[in-house]
Amino acid sequence: MSAAPLHDPAESDPQPVGDGPGYLPRQLVLLGAGQAHMHTLAQLAKHPLVGARVVLVAPYAGQIYARMLPGLLAGHYQHEDCVIPLEPLVRRSGVQWLSRSVRRLDAQARTLQLDDGSTLPYDWLSINTGPVQNRALLEQSIPGAREHGLFLRPMESFAALWPKVAEMADARALRFTVIGAGAGGVEIAMALRQRFASSSVTLLSGQQLPASDFPAAFQLKVLAALNARRITLIREAAVAIRAGEVVLASGASLACDVPLLSTGPQAAAWLQDSGLALDEAGFVAVDSCQRSRSHPQVFATGDVSSRSDRALARNGHAAQRAGPALDFNLRACVHGTALKPHQPPQRTLSLLSCGDQRAIASWGRWSAQGRWVWWLKNWLDRRVVARFKTDPKQY
Ligand SMILES: Cc1cc2nc3c(=O)[nH]c(=O)nc-3n(C[C@H](O)[C@H](O)[C@H](O)COP(=O)(O)OP(=O)(O)OC[C@H]3O[C@@H](n4cnc5c(N)ncnc54)[C@H](O)[C@@H]3O)c2cc1C
Repeated sequence: MSAAPLHDPAESDPQPVGDGPGYLPRQLVLLGAGQAHMHTLAQLAKHPLVGARVVLVAPYAGQIYARMLPGLLAGHYQHEDCVIPLEPLVRRSGVQWLSRSVRRLDAQARTLQLDDGSTLPYDWLSINTGPVQNRALLEQSIPGAREHGLFLRPMESFAALWPKVAEMADARALRFTVIGAGAGGVEIAMALRQRFASSSVTLLSGQQLPASDFPAAFQLKVLAALNARRITLIREAAVAIRAGEVVLASGASLACDVPLLSTGPQAAAWLQDSGLALDEAGFVAVDSCQRSRSHPQVFATGDVSSRSDRALARNGHAAQRAGPALDFNLRACVHGTALKPHQPPQRTLSLLSCGDQRAIASWGRWSAQGRWVWWLKNWLDRRVVARFKTDPKQY
């Protein structure tokens, strides 16, 4: 009897089962590394998601923590103090990261087109891309903005440009004009005053008072703080920017070396023809579970989203608080279980820095100010950044 091989190597090669292509996991795409997605990534590091491959699309390797940007300008922080590096978080969470920006979303075809021309399909999509400064729209209302203005968003680009501006202002007194006096614009103006004592700082607030979204007592404290710091407040809008000047609605022109655009949140242009239901301002209309009102496989959280059933504050605090519910609901989608509604906070604690290590706090109608408010803000902000730099399994 000839010795038959005990084991035919060909037989032990993996054989396909049935006619199908094997197992292809479905794909969850996290678009943008906003505050809620940071939470999702940290949770994925602790509790991996079984049943879906997760891809993150976010253009920057380091996310600037917006609340600390004024402190960076004022000189209280170094760049690295305010940045949350994405790579360690991504590595720990086991997701695939594409360092890209989205150009187009086709909600019908369930695809994203990225800035390298590639197409990324998804089974579920979660959008947390934050607000933008729509340069094309701003150029229409403030001609010259594109050529001469310094845009605050994307903050990562702004922070990269900032050292050059600071170097110029260190060398000679400059005339700064901050266009837009929401809480962010007010903080930026006071940070500039702190950092460059001999430069002039003007704040343009349009028809409204600075920090107009806040209660009256808070606004009065903000006005007093601007006044005490010799910041010129002009209640007019900018209608054009030219080399060396900002033109005001009254026709007057303001000599200016650095026009800094701190205009309010706008919706991204790529949402317009996405097919998703949007609100009148172009933000993604979502239900109480933060799910698109038109496409149930799409979620939107933070400043990019809009809820009609209740006023949704557009700020970092609200965006952060949306994280746990989003994480729960994304997992529920993948596992086919019930979603749960997200209850946005009715009140948020707002802490507005005044440049010189003082700050103003607002909680509902209550407000306060002083060094202790800055201390609290500094402690809270540093804690958030440190938390995302730590291995999530350790907290
Ligand atoms: C100067 C300043 C100070 C502020 N201070 C405070 C404060 O003290 N408290 C507070 O509550 N709020 C504050 N805010 C507001 C706060 O920054 C925002 O409300 C908050 O960051 C919004 O969070 P988000 O998660 O929606 O988006 P973001 O935190 O803006 O994150 C958006 C993410 O999406 C990415 N992204 C953007 N476009 C694309 C694209 N096309 N493709 C892929 N990815 C994209 C970005 O790179 C980023 O990763 C401040 C804002 C400014 C400007």
